Amino acid sequence: MARSRQAGAGAAEGRILIEVALPVPVPQTFVYESSEALAPGTRVLVPFGRRRLIGWVAGPLDPARAAPARVRVVGEVLDADPSLPPDLLALARWIADYYLASLGQVIRAALPAALGSSTRPDPTPRSRRVLSLVGDTPGLMRREELFGRAQRQRQLFEWLEATGADVEVRAIREAGYSDSVIAGLVSRGLVAIRNEPVLRDPFKDHASEPAPVHSPTHAQAGAIAALREAFDRAGPAEWRPFLLHGVTGSGKTLVYLELLRHVVDEHGKGAIVLVPEIALTPQTVARFRAVFGDRVAVLHSALSDGERYDAWRALRSGTKRIAVGARSAVFAPVQNLGAIVVDEEHEGTYKQSETPRYHAREVAIMRARAAGAACVLGSATPSLESWHNAAVGKFRLLELPRRVYDRPLPPVSVVDMRAPSPAPGAGPSTGRAPALAHERARLLSPAFAAAVRARVDRGEQSILLLNRRGYATFIRCSSCGAVLHCPHCNVSLTYHRGRSSLICHYCAYTRQPPRDCGECGAPAVAYRGYGTEQVERAVYEAFPDARVARMDVDTTGEKWSHHRILDRVRRGEVDILLGTQMIAKGLDFPGVTFVGVVDADVGMNLPDFRAAERTFQLLTQVAGRAGRGPAGGEVMIQTSHPDHYAITAALRHDYHGFVERELEERSGPGYPPHGRLANIVVAGTREAAVQELSAEIADRMTASLPGIGAGAVEVLGPAPCPVDRIRDRWRWHVLLRSSRAGPLGAACRWALTAFADRVGGGEPRVSLDRDPLSLL
Ligand code: ADP
Ligand code: ZN
Repeated sequence: MARSRQAGAGAAEGRILIEVALPVPVPQTFVYESSEALAPGTRVLVPFGRRRLIGWVAGPLDPARAAPARVRVVGEVLDADPSLPPDLLALARWIADYYLASLGQVIRAALPAALGSSTRPDPTPRSRRVLSLVGDTPGLMRREELFGRAQRQRQLFEWLEATGADVEVRAIREAGYSDSVIAGLVSRGLVAIRNEPVLRDPFKDHASEPAPVHSPTHAQAGAIAALREAFDRAGPAEWRPFLLHGVTGSGKTLVYLELLRHVVDEHGKGAIVLVPEIALTPQTVARFRAVFGDRVAVLHSALSDGERYDAWRALRSGTKRIAVGARSAVFAPVQNLGAIVVDEEHEGTYKQSETPRYHAREVAIMRARAAGAACVLGSATPSLESWHNAAVGKFRLLELPRRVYDRPLPPVSVVDMRAPSPAPGAGPSTGRAPALAHERARLLSPAFAAAVRARVDRGEQSILLLNRRGYATFIRCSSCGAVLHCPHCNVSLTYHRGRSSLICHYCAYTRQPPRDCGECGAPAVAYRGYGTEQVERAVYEAFPDARVARMDVDTTGEKWSHHRILDRVRRGEVDILLGTQMIAKGLDFPGVTFVGVVDADVGMNLPDFRAAERTFQLLTQVAGRAGRGPAGGEVMIQTSHPDHYAITAALRHDYHGFVERELEERSGPGYPPHGRLANIVVAGTREAAVQELSAEIADRMTASLPGIGAGAVEVLGPAPCPVDRIRDRWRWHVLLRSSRAGPLGAACRWALTAFADRVGGGEPRVSLDRDPLSLL
């Protein structure tokens, strides 16, 4: 692969000028001199200021562009064949243009790190040390005796228990546990340390799982036929993406598989399947491997750079034909692309949160269109944007309105947490410590607890959702009411009991819990609100005989750890799985007969126009985990807003009703899908400067828009961002809104050019998010 060669320094006669895309925030390419013609997409090492950067040949110098006075020479050519195929280069150009990023930044995001940030793929470590649980799990009483005052050991033990055993020793140390705590658990015979080999293909073990063969239902057969037919006669003129709206458990995967069989087996083409990161489980992969065997490459963020590079090369060379992966798999170098599937197309994780801020669904559509490939977006709760596109005929709608075997969607009931006792965590402050058992007991209403109890007794499984991690959501002085905030961000600190610390969820700032109020000095600090850690404790107390697993960011930091938890659930070794939205997505466990939402109101009141949509999606998705087997299922939602339309629609499994209402809510303010947005964020350490610059942006834009043909764009703001300080930087924003993409793009480009010295650097700094998913 990489061959290195000196480009002749004095190549004056055969002097060829080329444009090189560099991963710098300036939205332009740079001119260099080369002694030979280099194919676009070829990786080169070039001098840039005092640095040397890896870049990609974009093409020969555009004749319309004047060559700069001084042109530097390409240092080294790193690819024998371009690392970026032509179709991906074209796609990267579209992304750079639409999302207003530099081409080099886009290419770097599109290629495996091994090709972008270093000249050499990194070697993968071959083994690592892990801790695993051994012996029987001690009961609650026994735990008290066993650990006595060794609370750190108990915490570590319970952490291991929650993650389902194996955790890398390095991760344990990073979480703040000392070697003596680990040694203590080893000497008690509760855990063992062993060496575990690191696999290059972590999903290989699951490849042999047998896959059930089903004949399609009537609705599935209809969708499959429509897709195949469209694929066979697709001309560029009638090309349209498909929106597959299928209720939870309707068997969307089978539809994807049958399309791929047609595209890959019958037409010898390749395909890409995008799934949200969290749904990229061994089971998901196994369903594709069962049909396509080792022609499937898996692209997962937990892969090491080396593993990812291996998968990428196998696709590029054609050894593998199907890429299954999360967001960035939309760039998989699949040869002769015939289909792209975007499963759970409504998922927010498809949008990259840093530059380039692309949405993988939109990129998938562009890529499929260019390749003439079939494109299917699937979801039980399609995004309003996609639903709208189907309504206006840009997408073709396919519906799977029923579950397989005509299984009913589970009945959903609501528990009104306003009465009779006050909502947990929101009661009058008692000035007492957090860990009062009766307070915790209120997290689980009697009806809710009884439903779980019945499942535990019958040996069935329950899933409990609370989309908020940590133990207590914030701490407040009972005397003066002051809430403890992060010193660097304008958000409250969350108490994490496992780590005995207060932690900022924005910047990871960590501190010990205080004894006294920092404002008034009163020795009365109250812990308010609750997260998954506290629910876990309440569940342990209420169901001491149940086997519980908790899944959230704090128990899944370790590579593959969430797969291990899910494996235990699948094997029936867990009675109650509780966690954040991680447990709501895509899981297909027939043994789950109860789904409980501990508090549906989390996120509902966020100052974000998508809050209701997210709430409805989350409730519908998690409800969809219940009753997927013959034993049926039931769902219970605890809420203090039982009349909110997101909740009442979820109770009825009424996607259409929800969408109708939500479209109406958004039409007044012209929010998507009625209009399009771009968010210009100004951030800096001095609040006054941030405010001034954002006002200047808004003023100058308002004055200039008619002149640049962007009169159809409205400028809203400036205003402080809802979270107005993160990592010591104040944040203000200016929102652009338009019903048309063209003028909006022109306005964005104007802003980035006018304030070019502030983009990606400078103080304060300007960044732009086109089609933002969140305005926080
Ligand atoms: P969805 O993604 O729509 O929620 P899945 O694709 O996960 O649904 O399918 C749900 C379950 O139904 C899976 O266990 C799958 O094996 C099974 N299934 C899919 N199609 C059929 C069918 N035609 N007949 C019987 N079972 C099916
Ligand atoms: Zn912070």
